[in-house]
Amino acid sequence: MRVTRSVLNTMARSLRIFGVLKLVWWAGLSGLCMGLSSCDAVLPLLTDILSDATSQPAVVQTDQVFPACVDDDCNCGDFRDQALAQQVLDGFEGDPFVLDRDGNGLACESLPPVSSGLDAAVPPSDNLHLTLGNPSNAATGNPNNYLIERQQYALAYDRDRGIANWVSWHLDARWLGNTERQDNFRQDGGLPAGFYQVTPNDYRNSGYDRGHIVPSADRTASVRDNSATFLMTNILPQAPENNRGLWRALEEFERDLVYQEDRELFILAGGYGTQDTLAGGRVTVPSRLWKVIVVLDQPGQGVAGVSNGSRIIAIDVPNRNGLSADWRDYQTTIDRIELATGYDLLSQVPVAIQAVIEANLE
Ligand code: MN
Ligand code: MN
Repeated sequence: MRVTRSVLNTMARSLRIFGVLKLVWWAGLSGLCMGLSSCDAVLPLLTDILSDATSQPAVVQTDQVFPACVDDDCNCGDFRDQALAQQVLDGFEGDPFVLDRDGNGLACESLPPVSSGLDAAVPPSDNLHLTLGNPSNAATGNPNNYLIERQQYALAYDRDRGIANWVSWHLDARWLGNTERQDNFRQDGGLPAGFYQVTPNDYRNSGYDRGHIVPSADRTASVRDNSATFLMTNILPQAPENNRGLWRALEEFERDLVYQEDRELFILAGGYGTQDTLAGGRVTVPSRLWKVIVVLDQPGQGVAGVSNGSRIIAIDVPNRNGLSADWRDYQTTIDRIELATGYDLLSQVPVAIQAVIEANLE
């Protein structure tokens, strides 16, 4: 058996993530070392790496904004393009995330050099759900940034990934009623000709849940509203413990803001990055999931109800099991979500207010 530095680094990174399991890992690593003739050489290396791993990665430039993966563990699949991975590689001493396995100074060479970028601006929509903006200028010309507007929500669909890039929806007491969960997962027959229609079966035995983006329980005023949340265009492959744990807790929290404080909210959520595919490559499993909740100061005033003091809740979380059950552990800023995704969130909010609230960490 060969113990390479990169294998050890991978173990050490896991160790940084699962700090509680440190002793278990240590025991495992020592066991691994037993029976190796070069134990004397391996042990000092282990000690060296383990002490690196238990401290935070050293940032080279402190005033730079990095995507949220640096708080936890970045993989090449967490980046939309090579340039962003390169920023992270250059921003941290010693390649703590192992983005440059071959040591040639380039991070994640297999990623596209630069992202395709946003489509040209489209006229503001009068769709209630797009009141705060259309984050990727989605329209009907680009199949991978394809705008679907429904009465219940608006989304930008990516044909090649088989999932939405983002979904945006309004939430106040008018959307909440007594309708039962319909559970009628089904393909979205409204997609244009030539688009593969993802089916509920495409997720079967994948190990991933059919994770709602707009939660079923956010649309309970009518059967029609609730059914709209079960269209597969509003679903993405979500790690079960993520879906049923912190993600669900945040969904309940957002509804409590309405139920208990009678608030009006605009919510945006989506997935980015790539950690896997399902259905023969027709459905991409995003490596990270994000959500932004904007709590309006003044209900009924649309974008004018957003101010420098508006409450913003933003999370960016790995799409995997074994996470903290508390969504507060994954809180981040809108700026970091914009950096990671390339979108302009809240684009209809005056730029001076965006600058304040997008940098706010609640
Ligand atoms: Mn869910
Ligand atoms: Mn913005």
